[in-house]
Amino acid sequence: MNFISARITQLGGPEAIEWVEGDVPSPGPGEVLIEHTAIGLNFIDTYHRGGLYPIELPSGLGLEAAGRIIAIGEGVSGYHEGDRVASMGPGLGAYATHRVMPADAMFKLPDDVSDDIAAAAILKAATTEGLVERCADVKPGDTILVHAAAGGVGLIMVQWLKAKGVRVIGTVSSDTKEKLARNAGCDLVIRYDQVEIAPLVREFTHGAGVPVVFDGVGKDTFEASLDSMSPRGLLVSFGNASGPVDGVNLGILAQKGSLFVTRPTLMHYYMTPEDRSAGIARVWDMLGSGKVKVTIGQTYALRDAAQAHIDLEARRTTGSTILKP
Ligand code: NDP
Repeated sequence: MNFISARITQLGGPEAIEWVEGDVPSPGPGEVLIEHTAIGLNFIDTYHRGGLYPIELPSGLGLEAAGRIIAIGEGVSGYHEGDRVASMGPGLGAYATHRVMPADAMFKLPDDVSDDIAAAAILKAATTEGLVERCADVKPGDTILVHAAAGGVGLIMVQWLKAKGVRVIGTVSSDTKEKLARNAGCDLVIRYDQVEIAPLVREFTHGAGVPVVFDGVGKDTFEASLDSMSPRGLLVSFGNASGPVDGVNLGILAQKGSLFVTRPTLMHYYMTPEDRSAGIARVWDMLGSGKVKVTIGQTYALRDAAQAHIDLEARRTTGSTILKP
């Protein structure tokens, strides 16, 4: 069997992704060996590759993947060879044909969720689940703003919110993305590459503003997010696609309406076995029932991961992207 795995020995641009070949690793005690069938691309992979999120070098890359268990280490119970599973960390190394993982970090795939969909969505849908179901207090009838609504997390989040009876305003930067966001259910789509966000949000909400903003864009949308909110609203700033938000004077939150801001990360919503199994059960329910349909906008060969990073960072991708081993 051929084994290849991405390796980062120096932080940098997409060219920093190197490939190592070798023997397929063996699982140790408590571990399983997965043969990947699909790997999910995430914006966070670019933060690891470039150093925005610190990693120890040398390092693997990638968090999200699906495949089949092909070997089981000592002491593992509850798994069999051939089981279909997906993972979303811990640790980096999903950009590989095979991966040894702790058995308790794996999620079994239900029959109604394909490998490609699981790889395209487990991390992004779990992020959505944690943010929509547990981080913010989202109520039916609310109007909520979602930035980068046609991205991987964005398209999933829009549909998840619609399934909860929310009116959704989405921001996007192209005609194609505008169509995708509308098809996902956005009630209003704002072309934030062309117009100011906050005045249109105010107009749509008859001046009130929105009680919650989900913002994975970061630096470029931070001010507009605050300006779009109703008093005591919550800004969920969960990513940095345009760069990190820094140097904030907290007084601005008072001036703009006694606002709340949180900067959550998925890991803190999936810390306990109870949180993990309840969260993932909601994810499989949303994906399996078709309430959330995952759009795989692009598929690349695993070896073309660098090109996938170039396209993701250039805003050329839509929905989720998978890499095929
Ligand atoms: P996306 O597919 O959403 O890609 C990012 C999108 O951001 C782009 O398509 C683009 O959409 C928009 N964008 C706006 N400004 C820029 C810019 N300057 N450069 C590049 N893109 C820009 O990525 P993901 O679905 O993988 O992730 C979405 C966000 O969710 C990321 O910020 C990521 O870090 C975050 N995230 C956070 C997690 C957490 O635990 N906190 C977990 C998982 C993801 P457009 O062209 O329409 O503007």
